[in-house]
Amino acid sequence: MRSTMPEFPLTITSIMRYGTGRFADHEVATYTGDGYRRLPYGELAREAARLAGALRALGVDGDQRVATFCWNNTEHLTAYLAVPAMGAVLHTLNIRLHPDQIAYIADHAEDDVLLVDGSLIPLLAPILPVMKTVRHVVVIGAGDTEPLLAAGKRVHGYRALLDAASDAFDWPEVDERAAASMCYTSGTTGNPKGVVYSHRSSYLHAMAICTANGMAVTSDDRVLPIVPMFHANAWGMPYGALMAGASLVMPDRFMQAAHLAKIIEEEKPTISGGIPTIFADLLRYARRHHPDLSSLRLVPCGGSAVPESLMKGLQTEFGVRLVQAWGMTETSPTAAVAHGDDWSLRVTQGRLLAGVEGRIVGDGDTVLASDGVAVGELEVRGPWVTASYHLDENPSRFHDGWLRTGDVGRLDERGYVTLTDRLKDVIKSGGEWISSVELENALMGHPAVVEAAVIGVPDERWGERPLACVVLGGEAGVAELREFLSGKVARWQVPERWAFVEAVPKTSVGKFAKRTLREMHARGELTIVQE
Ligand code: ADP
Repeated sequence: MRSTMPEFPLTITSIMRYGTGRFADHEVATYTGDGYRRLPYGELAREAARLAGALRALGVDGDQRVATFCWNNTEHLTAYLAVPAMGAVLHTLNIRLHPDQIAYIADHAEDDVLLVDGSLIPLLAPILPVMKTVRHVVVIGAGDTEPLLAAGKRVHGYRALLDAASDAFDWPEVDERAAASMCYTSGTTGNPKGVVYSHRSSYLHAMAICTANGMAVTSDDRVLPIVPMFHANAWGMPYGALMAGASLVMPDRFMQAAHLAKIIEEEKPTISGGIPTIFADLLRYARRHHPDLSSLRLVPCGGSAVPESLMKGLQTEFGVRLVQAWGMTETSPTAAVAHGDDWSLRVTQGRLLAGVEGRIVGDGDTVLASDGVAVGELEVRGPWVTASYHLDENPSRFHDGWLRTGDVGRLDERGYVTLTDRLKDVIKSGGEWISSVELENALMGHPAVVEAAVIGVPDERWGERPLACVVLGGEAGVAELREFLSGKVARWQVPERWAFVEAVPKTSVGKFAKRTLREMHARGELTIVQE
């Protein structure tokens, strides 16, 4: 029997219409370093129309890629709406990637127009000449445009272009299956891979963000996305907020603890989200300066494992509820969130959201039990989980319609995911696996430890043994840290090799750069204390 329901398209255009129309008096506030630029959503709709009109005048009349090289602010949000809604494809470039990778990505995606924040011109200028497909560069705010012209591109001022455009745009009917936006993985292994989101996947992901099991966004909320909008769609917070009618507070480039504390005190956001390093910095800052962070009622945190000590510190001392979330660029990215009051569940990577299916796969691609015990690679699939990469010549990351996440761990019957490692970081000691994530979390619970990253290093007897690279913020020696660990992990897992470092190197998206650490170790650059 056929249903009587229409195949009504799920599009970013409809998210934009609803959010900016029904909640015209809600706003996006962008922090400027000392104050805020405010734009009511009603006016945001007109800005989006002007941007679409301006891009059309530059020749964007199909599915051309419009790239952004921008911070989290009003203009980036305008592009998030206008570009997909006009039928073009938004490509958010990660400004923190290596210049060669940015150039590779822009070429691979065939970017046509590029919107750049004036403050980022110095970063873009050296790469622009090799971005062959880019015809037009649109500069947002002030900046020296000379190097852009020297690269042979047509250069325009954002404000002047928009002021010359009409504040009404005849938004086309877009196919919900058409590409809306794209984002490349940070390429920790090999070249970055392009993930192309559809209108439909973005819509369904935004709905999942709004559910209570997701980020529980309502029209009473003010959402502060601390995840960059150039990394995995700022976890879906911009579209989620517009779908719910929540206001947005944008930190622009100011993601340091002192600025964030000020923004939270002044703008009273209720929901935020970001990686553990940002919130660990905020916790340390808050312990010294005691800002009022109590407006925050829910803060999904992920991108790498969230130490229990961080969640407990923020919750008990500042009333901020950090909940762990898991996802990846390939999963739009939000796929699991760990809600509830039970700490044995709060420390997991979260419960898979409705729509996302998961399974654990062992050696030889055998599917293992989802019993919370069997350990293997996590595979996922679902309406907002990519089923391929853009122009991928070697689709080895896909397995019978499932995405191989590269993450290793367990899945239980209730859908809770517990990750122990990334496949490329696992430590195999005498045939047994040691979880670097577990060791790091335990170590970061020690009051003198600021950060800890554990890597596997060659060992004659065991094949591989863990090396703990620790950043100290107080007094602690190897003996004390080993003793501290021995109550928390099995004795044979306690590292005997230690390196005390100034800082743990980070990837472009703020994760521990373990490959860099392994290379430093191989070159003998780490001073090892052996017990
Ligand atoms: P990339 O894969 O390019 O590094 P992503 O931001 O897409 O960039 O990273 C996704 C990866 O981040 C996941 O595959 C997983 O390894 C890690 N990750 C995300 N959330 C968590 C979490 N809560 N705990 C542990 N690892 C996480």
